[in-house]
Amino acid sequence: MHADPFTSEEILATLQSLVRTPSVNPTIAPTEPYGETAIAAVICDWLERRGIRASIEEAAPGRPNVFAEIGSRTGPSLVLCAHLDTVGTAGMTIPPFEPCIENGKVFGRGSYDMKGSVAAILAAAAALSHENNLRGRVLLALVADEEDASLGARDFVRRHSADAAILTEPSEGRLILAHKGFVWLELTTRGRAAHGSRWDLGVSAIAKMARVIESLERFDRETLRRRDHPLVGPASQHCALIEGGSGLSTYAEKCVLRVERRTLPGETPEQVLAETEAVVRRSGTEAEIRLLLDRPPLVSDSHSPIARAVREAATTVVGHPPEETGVAYWMDAAIFAAAGVPTVNYGPAGAGAHEAVEWVELDSVISCAKVLAESAHRFFAAVA
Ligand SMILES: [Zn+2]
Repeated sequence: MHADPFTSEEILATLQSLVRTPSVNPTIAPTEPYGETAIAAVICDWLERRGIRASIEEAAPGRPNVFAEIGSRTGPSLVLCAHLDTVGTAGMTIPPFEPCIENGKVFGRGSYDMKGSVAAILAAAAALSHENNLRGRVLLALVADEEDASLGARDFVRRHSADAAILTEPSEGRLILAHKGFVWLELTTRGRAAHGSRWDLGVSAIAKMARVIESLERFDRETLRRRDHPLVGPASQHCALIEGGSGLSTYAEKCVLRVERRTLPGETPEQVLAETEAVVRRSGTEAEIRLLLDRPPLVSDSHSPIARAVREAATTVVGHPPEETGVAYWMDAAIFAAAGVPTVNYGPAGAGAHEAVEWVELDSVISCAKVLAESAHRFFAAVA
C-alpha cells in the first residue's frame, strides 16, 4: 500500500527520480543522446508498482510514449499529457541530473519543463486509480519529442481519441486557452555566378536577398506587430538562418534564407505563404518560397466543459479562480485540438526552461496534481 500520493514526500521522491533520469531530446542535442527510453521505463515501473497497467507505444524507433488508462471502460475520456524529453544541458551552471532542493524549489534540467508536470500527472493518476466510482476514463499521454518534431503527441492522437485533454506545460497555475502557431519558410534568390572581377556579368544572389530581408523586416515591424491578439499578443517573424555564396572572388549564384513566422489563432500557412509572396514582390526582386513546416495555433473555447472543469478545480484547490490567458510559445496542445480534442493547459510554477538554471516550485507541483485529479472528477460529472 502506497502513501497518500499528494504528500510532498511522495511527489518530491517521484520528481527527483525523474530528474535523475536524463531524457535529453537526441535530435536537438545529438551530443547528449539519451532519449526517452530510460525515463519511460522508470515511469512504467512507477505506475505498475501502484497497480496501474502502463504500456510503451513507440512514436518512432527508440522514441517511446508511456500510455496508461485509469477508471471505467465506459463514460467520457480525458487525456492528461506531459512531454518526457528535455532540451540539452550545455551552458548549465547547476548539476543537471542531481536534483537539489532549496527553499521549496527543485533544481535540475527538465524540473520545470516539464518533469514537475509528469510528477503531477503520476500523482493524480495514483489518486484516481484508488477510486472505484470514477465516472470516466483517464488516459495518460507521457510523450516523446515535444522539443523537436512532436513525434510523441502526433503518434498519440493517431492511436487514441478522447473527449478532452489537459496539457500540463508549466503555466504558473494559469489556465492557458490559446497559444501561437509557427510556420517555417525557406526563401531562395538566384544570381549569376561570375568571376569577382566581372561586374559586367555577375549578379549576386546575396545582394538580392538583402532587399528581400529589408522588405521582410518592414513587414514584421509595420504589419505583423500591429496584429495583436488579446490572449497571445502580436504576430511576428524573424530571419533565422542564411547561407549563400561559394567563394570570395565569385558572384554568389544562390542565397537561401530561412524565416520563422509566429502565427496568431486564425492565421493559416496559406495566408503566410501569400503574404510572403507579396512581401517579396514589394522588394522589387524575385525569390522562390517553400513551406518547410507548419504547426497550428491553439484557441480553445473558454466555456467548454474541460475549460470549466479546470477553472472550477483550480478555484477549489488554490482558493481563487486561475488567471486565464494565452502564451506566445508553441505547445503540443494544438496537436490535440487539431485532432478534434478540446484542450486547455494548466501547469506548475518555476523558471529557467531551456536556461542555465532551471527549477520548479514543489508546492505548485502538488497543487497541480490535485487540480488535475479534481478536474477529472468535474469533467466526468459534467459530461457523463
Ligand atoms: Zn515543455
